[in-house]
Amino acid sequence: MPTNERENSHIAPWLQSLWSNLDFQNLPNAILLHGQSGIGKFAFAVELAKALLCEGSQTNKRPCNQCEACHWFNTGNHPDFIPLVPETHRKLLPHADYEGDEAPKKGRAARDDGDGATSEKKEKKNISIEETRTAIEGLSIGSHRGGNRIILIYPLEMLRSDSANTLLKSLEEPPPNTIFLLLVDRVLPTIRSRCRLLTAPRPDRQLGLSWLKGRVQDIPGLNIADSDIETIYDEQGGAPYSVLESLVARHNKDEKDELTISIQASRYLLQSMSQGARINWLDAAEKINKARYSFLLATMQRWVSDLQSVAQGGNPRYYPKHMSTLQNLSKNANLAKLLNFWKSLTQARRHENHPLANRIQLEALLSQYQQLFSS
Ligand SMILES: [Zn+2]
Repeated sequence: MPTNERENSHIAPWLQSLWSNLDFQNLPNAILLHGQSGIGKFAFAVELAKALLCEGSQTNKRPCNQCEACHWFNTGNHPDFIPLVPETHRKLLPHADYEGDEAPKKGRAARDDGDGATSEKKEKKNISIEETRTAIEGLSIGSHRGGNRIILIYPLEMLRSDSANTLLKSLEEPPPNTIFLLLVDRVLPTIRSRCRLLTAPRPDRQLGLSWLKGRVQDIPGLNIADSDIETIYDEQGGAPYSVLESLVARHNKDEKDELTISIQASRYLLQSMSQGARINWLDAAEKINKARYSFLLATMQRWVSDLQSVAQGGNPRYYPKHMSTLQNLSKNANLAKLLNFWKSLTQARRHENHPLANRIQLEALLSQYQQLFSS
């Protein structure tokens, strides 16, 4: 639709009010943005960085997308934008070709100083020590374009402890015109005291889903039924960005069939567990054992987690649609057994990657589930 809509779409609708409450005239040197993983914090921070670097009309708090600075930013070349992110997250930065087929690494590869040897999988999940050191050393020099300089660190948890200590020192005596945008899923007290805290809220289900369905429609070839999107959305705890990412990843890897099998199996599993004491666990295990084991375990964990919170008078987080079923089941469930079952599931998840006999393990877990409701 309208181009304005498109331009603003970098910020998820449920984060718009967080944005409009920002006082651009009076921003602190360090902002700690926290909130559940997968709800759009990263996209929010990238847009904020761009707005802070924009050299266009400053009356509008949005980046103008017209000026030289915005152009540099959009092409991934702004010298005063210093993203410290693991290899695995580079594809989300500006100019990275994350919807196309090209290798996503290309985006910020120039920052690597030719350090191509550290391609170990483990390394990729950490923020490079080398890059962090270079960035912090560079702080003593003024910004390249004479305006702000933005250092975006995500996820903060992936900064190694020696890097984190150097960072803490810079936060104590922040260089002029430098703004740190730090993103975390959970807040660390040592960092918190030196930053302004911004809390990114989780979207309500309706809003998150409508946003997600819009995104899915925008991706050519990604044909997923709305009801399937809803199932996956609930499965992943209402984090739209995570859902979108996994849908796109699976689509690209051509794992559509596997995904379909897993969704169907997960539905069957939920239906079966809704039966409580009447669950036919042999039949259920037989019907679902072709699906990915980890997917099924996650479904069970979410269901049991909802069952626990409903039993204690709370609300279901994952399956609000099944509130009445959960209420009925929780009346007959033995709480001590429920806790034990939870432990069994946690145990099973530790070994989910080498399931020797899915079906037998599923049978064992589901028969244990049935026992929850026998007095
Ligand atoms: Zn601009």
